Formats: sequence, structure tokens, C-alpha cells
Amino acid sequence: MRTAVGRVIIAGAGIVGLSTALSLRRAGFEVAVRERAPRIRETGAVLGVWPHTIRELERLGLGVRLAEIKSERSVVRYRDFSGAEFDTTEMPPARTVYRPRLSALLASAVGEDDLRTGKELVDYVEDRDGVTVHYADGDHERADLLVGADGLNSRVRAILAPGTESRHQGGHHVWRAVLPFDGEIGDGCPVLGRDRTRGALMRLADGSCCWVIAQFGATTSAARNGKQEALARVSNLHDGTWPFALREAVLATPEESVLHSRVAVVPAISRWASDRVVLAGDAAHAMSPHIGSGASLGIEDARVLGDCLRRADIAPALAAYQDDRIDRYRHVRRHADTMAAAPTPLSYVERFSEYLNWLHNSRTR
Ligand SMILES: Cc1cc2nc3c(=O)[nH]c(=O)nc-3n(C[C@H](O)[C@H](O)[C@H](O)COP(=O)(O)OP(=O)(O)OC[C@H]3O[C@@H](n4cnc5c(N)ncnc54)[C@H](O)[C@@H]3O)c2cc1C
Repeated sequence: MRTAVGRVIIAGAGIVGLSTALSLRRAGFEVAVRERAPRIRETGAVLGVWPHTIRELERLGLGVRLAEIKSERSVVRYRDFSGAEFDTTEMPPARTVYRPRLSALLASAVGEDDLRTGKELVDYVEDRDGVTVHYADGDHERADLLVGADGLNSRVRAILAPGTESRHQGGHHVWRAVLPFDGEIGDGCPVLGRDRTRGALMRLADGSCCWVIAQFGATTSAARNGKQEALARVSNLHDGTWPFALREAVLATPEESVLHSRVAVVPAISRWASDRVVLAGDAAHAMSPHIGSGASLGIEDARVLGDCLRRADIAPALAAYQDDRIDRYRHVRRHADTMAAAPTPLSYVERFSEYLNWLHNSRTR
């Protein structure tokens, strides 16, 4: 039985930090989101949005406002590099959303009064009654609870669970861009190509275009820029026999617009929480983007944390959250590893479908 709520500081105003603010406010907390960057993220490409994502956002109370995200068309089919469709009848419907649009929606739901940018957490000190958070500008403040939603290289995780640094995932790289482009982009189906290359070309709601090219086990060259690396992989995704203007879209992209990620992940950690400090989102479990649901799972973290804090006082609620999450991510990692090891594009699609159906249908608190 819960006896008291209080004030929570959330370090990081990514999708998960903002979702956590909404969830903990619903649980009765006074929320204070503190973001290192000078403003809320305005860049990025698209995020895959599944029925699971929508359900979790609805459970945070965003129901009516979800129409503002203006997600793009459904994509439920996958092709190989010859344009042939894989048989994926079991795949749940997918939509994509322009990432800055989702960030903006969440930030406006949190509201300016509870959100401060340019505040980099550098340290915290926990005691019996709460936690004191220290910032790079010399400022400090007090709260009953601290949530580390500060992403892949989380400072909160480094203090809470030392020795859990993020690691690069072999040769897994992703290149992507959003640009104005009038060419024929086809039906937006993602392509699972040769040499473990994946790619997609999509039209966004505002008429611009987004392309993504990813490869497991990639060998890159210091002599090539991001655009050249992407171009070098187009033939793995398109044999030239069907209408798919991926090469043209990449060629039309200014080099400085190409976003490149050398994929890094957080190893499975056994400590997500102390009595007053807890991790959520990529800070706790940054996974490979090939599962297309890191943000979706982080939103689920936010909702589950709020549910636990509604039912119990802070320390037992954090312990319950940690138990729930460790168990949940054991399964997610098994699915992610199985997908990454898929021997053929068809088996990759089948394993992805199995994962997404599990994600949507499996029970969480
Ligand atoms: C190429 C790629 C494609 C992806 N595609 C998808 C997809 O289709 N669907 C999906 O669901 N997921 C996808 N993901 C995963 C998804 O992007 C992440 O899981 C999600 O963005 C994590 O959100 P977060 O809020 O936990 O972390 P972040 O988005 O990293 O936010 C952390 C925030 O904390 C701030 N911060 C950092 N340190 C501090 C500090 N010390 N003090 C204060 N603030 C701090 C940062 O500035 C940042 O704003 C993809 C990831 C990649 C790399």
C-alpha cells in the first residue's frame, strides 16, 4: 500500500524521459525533466510504430492527441532485392512516424513548466530520504526519486551499475536521411537484401522522403563518407529490375544530411534500481535497432514504472519494476539474437513477425 508520493527528477528528455514524466505525473508525482541538450531533439529519421507502441502511448493518456503524430501509411509486407514479396501474413500492421514529431508531441504534453534544457546531470548522491542531483553548471536540486532516462551512454547507469558501458555490435551500421524527393518511391515496403543488408524508402506525411540502409557485419572504409557507404550497398537491395528509386534518393541527398550510426548496445544488466534511483529506456537496455522497437519498449518501461509507483512506496515499487523489466528483457534479447542470426531474409522476416506478435500479445503488469 502506498503512503506517500513526492517529487521526481527525470534525467533526459528523449522519448522515454518524456513518456516517464507523463506516466509518473499520472501516478501523482510532481515531475521535473532535465535535459542536457539546449533543446528537445529536432533531428532524426523515422520510427517504426506498432500496435504495441500505440497501446502504450494510449495508456499514458495520449489517446486523442495521437492523431497529431500523423503516422505514415501501413507497411505490412517485405520484399527481397528482386522485388518479390515475402509471405508475411502473420506480421502485425506497422506505421512509421517522423521521430521529431513524436518528441514534440510528448514535450508539449509534459509542458514547458516541468522541463528544463541545458541541464546535464553529472552526479547524484542518494540518502535515506531522497536524492540530490548535481549538474554540469554547478547547480543542484533535491527529489524523492531520480529516473535515469539519459540514453545509451547514461551517466546515471554509470553511477548505479558501474562496468556496464555500451558496446559496439560487431559491424552493424545504419545510414539514413530525410529529404525532399519527387522520384518514384514505390509502395514503401522494406527490403531484406543480399549480404545481410536491409533498406527502405518511404514517403512521409509532409511529402518528404526517408531512406534507411542497414547492414549486419559491414566492412566500412575510412576513405568513404556516409553517402558513399550507403550507395555502395544499394545493389544489395535492388537488382534494377523493378521500380525502386533508392539509388536516386541517396544520390539526391546532401552528404551532410546523411545520419550514420555504428550500432551500440547496453549489455544485460542485473541492477536497474536502488531505493531512490531507477533506469528507463536506452539507459537500461539500448538494443540493436533491427528489432525496430527500442523506443516502443522504453515507453512501456515508463508506463510500467508508473503502475508500480501507483501501487507501492518508492523502494518496493522500484524493486517490483526491476523484477518485471529484467524478466521482460530476457525474452526481448532472445528474440533479438535469434533475428540477428537468421540465415536467410525469409527466416529473418518470420522471426521478426514472431517477435512483434510476442511483443504485442505478451502480458506485462
Ligand atoms: C538507427 C536507429 C533506428 C531505430 N529505429 C527504431 C524504430 O523504428 N522503432 C523504435 O521503437 N525504436 C527504434 N530505435 C531505438 C530508439 O531510437 C531508442 O530506443 C529510443 O530513442 C531511446 O529513447 P531514450 O529516451 O531512452 O534515449 P535517447 O533518445 O537517447 O534520449 C536520451 C536523452 O537524454 C539526454 N541526456 C544524455 N545524458 C544526459 C545527462 N547526463 N543529463 C541530462 N540529459 C542527458 C540526451 O541528450 C537525450 O535527449 C532506433 C535506434 C536507432 C539507432
